[in-house]
Amino acid sequence: MVKAKTIAVIGAGSSSIVTAKVLIDNGFDVILFDREKQIGGIWSPNGAYIDLQAQLVAGFMEFPDLIDTEGISSFISFLHIQIKCIWFLSAYDYARWQHLHNCLQKYSDKFHVTERIPFQMEVVLIDNYDIVVVATGLFSTTYVPTFHGQNKFAGRIFHAWSIKTEE
Ligand SMILES: Cc1cc2nc3c(=O)[nH]c(=O)nc-3n(C[C@H](O)[C@H](O)[C@H](O)COP(=O)(O)OP(=O)(O)OC[C@H]3O[C@@H](n4cnc5c(N)ncnc54)[C@H](O)[C@@H]3O)c2cc1C
Repeated sequence: MVKAKTIAVIGAGSSSIVTAKVLIDNGFDVILFDREKQIGGIWSPNGAYIDLQAQLVAGFMEFPDLIDTEGISSFISFLHIQIKCIWFLSAYDYARWQHLHNCLQKYSDKFHVTERIPFQMEVVLIDNYDIVVVATGLFSTTYVPTFHGQNKFAGRIFHAWSIKTEE
């Protein structure tokens, strides 16, 4: 029997989770590494800032292969889309980060991705895998620019990444 290729996926954000699911479905031996305690990347308690919402209405950002449980729908009908459009125009029912985190967690659990993640493992060097997928996100390392005259500003300057509570 041919041994399955081993694949390491760096990151456990949305990109990694979906990548891992497809690779697992195709018979690869997959492991994911994330330096944080939970999945989700941007859409996790560590990554999200308070009141972070997606730029789309909640029902438009869902997985078609996630079965409808606890309010997570797997199928969006035309009528559903029309209703969502009305909400979009009137109520701004954008998906909150908690909703996306919840979706990603359920997806990851359902397709046996979560059990392949040793959390709190920051990858600095990697070998011993046939293939390495780097899905570390564009925004998981903060950049705080310096700008002319900022020393004259009396208030505190900090990155939005630090805003986790209303305090
Ligand atoms: C404020 C904000 C709002 C956004 N809104 C939207 C939106 O509404 N719609 C949309 O489509 N996109 C949006 N995006 C884009 C967003 O990047 C994607 O939605 C998505 O979260 C990207 O997923 P990702 O898996 O590529 O990266 P991330 O979610 O950033 O995940 C990367 C993961 O890699 C881990 N990691 C990084 N380096 C290492 C390492 N060396 N070792 C181990 N683990 C590591 C991190 O801990 C993190 O968990 C938004 C982004 C931001 C910042």
